Amino acid sequence: MLFFTHPVREACRLNNLILKIAVPSPLHRSFDYLPPAKIDRAALQAGVRVRVPFGRRTVIGVLLSTSTESDIESHKLKRALALLDETPVVSRDVLDMVQWASDYYHHPIGDAVSSALPALLRRGQSATVTDISGWRLTAAGHAVDLATLTRAARQASVIALLAPHTDGLPREAIEASASVLHTLEEKGWIEACVLAREPQVHDVAASVHTLNPAQQQAVDTVLAGLDGFTPFLLAGVTGSGKTEVYLELIERVLSREQQALVLVPEIGLTPQLLTRFRQRLATPLALLHSGLSDHERLTAWQQARSGEAGVIIGTRSAIFTPLARPGLIVVDEEHDASLKQQDGFRYSARDLAIWRARKLDIPVMLGSATPSLESLLNVGQGRYRQLDLPERTGVARPPSFHVLDVRKLPLEDGLSQPLIQGMRRHLDAGDQVLLFLNRRGFAPTLMCYHCDWIAECKRCDARMTWHQHDGQLHCHHCGSQRPVDTTCPECQGSELHPLGQGTERVEQALDAHFPGVTRVRIDRDTTRRKGELDRLLQQAHSGEGRILLGTQMLAKGHHFPNVTLVGILDADHGLFSTDFRASERMAQLIVQVAGRAGRHERPGEVAIQTCHPDHPLLQLLINRGYPAFAQAALAERQAAHMPPVTGMALFRAEAPAADTALAFLDSVAKRIQASGNSAVETWGPLPATMERRAGRYRAQLVLQSEHRGQLQRLLSSVVRQLETAREARKVRWSVDVDPADTY
Ligand code: ADP
Ligand code: ZN
Ligand code: ZN
Repeated sequence: MLFFTHPVREACRLNNLILKIAVPSPLHRSFDYLPPAKIDRAALQAGVRVRVPFGRRTVIGVLLSTSTESDIESHKLKRALALLDETPVVSRDVLDMVQWASDYYHHPIGDAVSSALPALLRRGQSATVTDISGWRLTAAGHAVDLATLTRAARQASVIALLAPHTDGLPREAIEASASVLHTLEEKGWIEACVLAREPQVHDVAASVHTLNPAQQQAVDTVLAGLDGFTPFLLAGVTGSGKTEVYLELIERVLSREQQALVLVPEIGLTPQLLTRFRQRLATPLALLHSGLSDHERLTAWQQARSGEAGVIIGTRSAIFTPLARPGLIVVDEEHDASLKQQDGFRYSARDLAIWRARKLDIPVMLGSATPSLESLLNVGQGRYRQLDLPERTGVARPPSFHVLDVRKLPLEDGLSQPLIQGMRRHLDAGDQVLLFLNRRGFAPTLMCYHCDWIAECKRCDARMTWHQHDGQLHCHHCGSQRPVDTTCPECQGSELHPLGQGTERVEQALDAHFPGVTRVRIDRDTTRRKGELDRLLQQAHSGEGRILLGTQMLAKGHHFPNVTLVGILDADHGLFSTDFRASERMAQLIVQVAGRAGRHERPGEVAIQTCHPDHPLLQLLINRGYPAFAQAALAERQAAHMPPVTGMALFRAEAPAADTALAFLDSVAKRIQASGNSAVETWGPLPATMERRAGRYRAQLVLQSEHRGQLQRLLSSVVRQLETAREARKVRWSVDVDPADTY
């Protein structure tokens, strides 16, 4: 070395610059590459996309960092092919967050980084193009006589749709398959075109409300801390004006030329919320949810990144959206399980929101009428600050509860007499009634009365649900279906009967009990077609539907002012489940559904049908409310050493043969024992509650510890070992840190 002059050494180092790249792959590490030829060093910013050779393929990765060191000898390193971006597509704060999340959730970094990008960017599209691709009719297309297309209805409908739009329509606006469009293009009737993106403009109106003292205090407290990181928990009973608090804060954030990111559980379910945001906030809204086309998603992402959109509203993956001028993060319905991704990269968007806000040094507000025990514990330990909205706004009063002991009451198609009478009373008074049953289909069981045979799924340890609308048995777990059996396959008897109720059956019963009374049923089956959910919700809101019947799709976030009676047809699911979170979820659901009642002048009533009217948690919930329930539930978790008081992680595994998954988890348990880490306890491995699902046998191993750091270290070391372990190749396995359920 002594013989080298300084400039040579410098050149040497530049040559040896190594790129650490996150490449989509199942491996828990980044990959080293040499920079592409003839690249300016300044272009190598963390967060830009890089095209690299990977095995026999070429893939798109993201640059994490540069280094002068690599574990691989430099002559063996491959050279990256090209940089795709001039400025990072993954912003610094998002990149740091994803790297942290990849470590914390033990998910491969390449895949984690991928989840932060819109699909089109993952596939290499330019991040800056803002045109929208669309279709328009050609002259020949305009001349087509639709009467000649009676045998090609789908082609005809596209032509009819496009005819009045001479400039063309965006691809998203055309409900037709790619093959239909292709055929029309081949015939020379339509052609692709490029549409300019229209700037969003809408009228806004100031709030019609003056904040009540509790709302004002919540707003003032957050405003006082707008220049730094503080996590707030806005605990407000349903209808207490939480959304009004968000809007007020967001207005202030916008007036500071900053952006607000708002996470919500399911956008499709909350058109009212979007309308309120649009009416109040004089800024383009960027919406990010699963119903978007790839193109719409990229557009919204660009509006957030450029700062064009002042407010970004989205479901959990919106937490990865780049923000030009972040000012506030809001997580609405923070208790909702959908904020935790349940497969692949199993992150909690709520917990990432806290992480990102800390990194950005901005406030974050979690809001709920039924806060999660996690957040309540964080308040108790002084990490979050709680703001209360204890009362409903205006004249609305809390509803009264009636527990109906269905062991003593005969049920007619799932409805007890007192409930039916109550419904009559409320309907006669001109009010609406909401019935909640978290089970779709006609009947959850089909049984032979002669030999007790029950129709089961051939691929799952589960019963088939009978759906009357298509005369099929459906498995709600794997999606398989078959025609309803007419004779018993065991005894050839013909006495096959449906047992139990789903929403379809209750709807039929309503016909008999309340003939002529209009109703709206909202569940996955009635809302499959695009636009159908909005239409049904509209009927529910307008009062056109007098009886509203539905699954949890009806329970979340809606505001039905004229509903005065809520009937919960079966509250028992959560009381005796194997999952430790079941009672918490049940309480949240009951309170949320009940919260739909009596949000107006007339007081609301809630009727709960249960076989366990004396259950202590149910009684506590009804008599003393959610806060008392939550404190008791938290004390129970404390006594049982369960989360959130302790840290928990799950190894999950599945395989086509019965014992493979268990054997694999056994070997994981042995590795854990061998680590000698006494701070982490393991339970299992055990078969999953539903062991066989979609033809695969599933099992899990639970890890628990009071020392989250120790649990993390152990997970890192075991996951690293499993990457090269032979037994791991026989199963599909994953780690779930802070699992939302233990099924
Ligand atoms: P939440 O989000 O807690 O369910 P909302 O913000 O939707 O509550 O408020 C419930 C209802 O009360 C809405 O119709 C809203 O317009 C109204 N509201 C909110 N704040 C006030 C207020 N300060 N005075 C009167 N009405 C209000
Ligand atoms: Zn039989
Ligand atoms: Zn199945």
